[in-house]
Amino acid sequence: MQRPGVVNLLDFDLDALSAHCGRLGEKPFRAVQLFRWIHQRGVSDFSQMTDLARSLREQLPSLAHVGAPPVVSEQASDDGTTKWLFDVGGGNAVESVFIPEAERGTLCVSSQAGCAVGCRFCATGHQGFSRNLTTAEIVGQLWFAEHHLRARLGLAPGERGPKGNDTRVVDNVVMMGMGEPLQNYGALLPALRVMLDDHAYGLSRRRVTVSTSGVVPMIHRLREDCPVSLAVSLHAPDDALRDQLVPLNRKYPLNELLQACVCYLDAAPRDFITFEYCMLDGVNDSLDQARALVRLVHDRVACKINLIPFNPFAQSGLKRSPSERVAAFADVLQGAGIVTTIRRTRGDDIAAACGQLAGEVQDRTRVAQRRTRGTIPLLPAEPA
Ligand code: SAH
Ligand code: SF4
Repeated sequence: MQRPGVVNLLDFDLDALSAHCGRLGEKPFRAVQLFRWIHQRGVSDFSQMTDLARSLREQLPSLAHVGAPPVVSEQASDDGTTKWLFDVGGGNAVESVFIPEAERGTLCVSSQAGCAVGCRFCATGHQGFSRNLTTAEIVGQLWFAEHHLRARLGLAPGERGPKGNDTRVVDNVVMMGMGEPLQNYGALLPALRVMLDDHAYGLSRRRVTVSTSGVVPMIHRLREDCPVSLAVSLHAPDDALRDQLVPLNRKYPLNELLQACVCYLDAAPRDFITFEYCMLDGVNDSLDQARALVRLVHDRVACKINLIPFNPFAQSGLKRSPSERVAAFADVLQGAGIVTTIRRTRGDDIAAACGQLAGEVQDRTRVAQRRTRGTIPLLPAEPA
């Protein structure tokens, strides 16, 4: 729990931290030192930050703290995928999922408790909107995961484990957890800057992905402020169906959305946009719809299409498309020259809101009702 007047330093990107240090009468280079201790070394105890001026070390505890939201539980899948549930207060929890692969370690991060967009096929959307996460709560997910994994693997700051599934730390972040990141832009932007900062996590722009259901004005803002990789959740080849599946489409229809994607490519770190397409049995998965999707995007937006197996959950009334239909749909796209991937399901034995995972999704994001079977309880996060 945050004490009044005490700021969480995970809320600050380096510019904001420098300004904050300036207000305390400190030189800007102190902010760099502090930033490195916090993000590169995972240190939250100011007394351990030995190269800080003693005066600052002594002042800081009464003015500031460093802390992620408390971890409620950790679930580990047989394939190494790990999910953490963070308590963000008021009975809400958000989740992050770490997905280790041979070539990268991906952390799927949440941006909101709940979501106001209300997509038909999304458990978070069905839950409704509770509140925006703060920058500290977004960055806190990465800060916790990175240093928890490092400690588990015995890796020194900056050290990378040998290549392999079980020795990965985070080198790829996808904003694909709970919430619509572009409806929490004010908190998202500094969080992205922390992820990219060489004095913090130093992730490349290509390895930070914002996924959006299509908040068009904010796609333009992101292009200007902090272009990172962009994934757009498309899910339908025409406005009539997309209006039903992704209600935000009624405000920002496909034509505007695709135009925003084309503009985004001017500044993007990759020369394509990723379109996410969740395969729903009998809803958006026919071969005619595949051909309509080709007509929609082909020769218009340089893109890759990622077909996602649907995570079924009881209230959705929807079913996952059979794998043969997904393969046939992919064939149509590939036949037209569109690079298409079928997302491999990970962590099948654990449930997660993250679109990267499959498995029965339950209402596991309410702290009071959380599922405990198969979870590994963790100690509460250190008090500030
Ligand atoms: N709000 C953003 C990011 C969070 S959702 C967005 O919609 O893009 C991350 C991804 O998970 C999106 O592509 C979303 O469509 C997908 N997703 C949501 N619910 C899903 C489900 N039940 N099964 C599979 N993917 C799902
Ligand atoms: Fe929100 Fe994304 Fe879920 Fe849609 S898919 S309800 S935008 S989190």
